[in-house]
Amino acid sequence: MERCSACGALWSASLYEPYAAFEYVARWEASEAEWLEQHAADDGRSLLRWHAAQVRDHWEALPAPERERVDQHRRRSQGHHPIDSPAAFGLGEK
Ligand SMILES: [Zn+2]
Repeated sequence: MERCSACGALWSASLYEPYAAFEYVARWEASEAEWLEQHAADDGRSLLRWHAAQVRDHWEALPAPERERVDQHRRRSQGHHPIDSPAAFGLGEK
């Protein structure tokens, strides 16, 4: 969990590995206490699913240079990625 020093927004960072780990950050809209509570509830498993869903659902809204970096990571990871293999990340069909 990281906090923006300018505006105080909370961001959840997660590395997607293997295949040249690449970090994705997702905006956490609730409080830090709620994040900790949810993490404690199931060892962070539901938060990992939530994070993967954020990547899948919002990557297309990124600026073009960042979308291009996501596409590069999708190619490196040979489809083992929340966008291309949602079921492998515990996600149902969109
Ligand atoms: Zn900010």
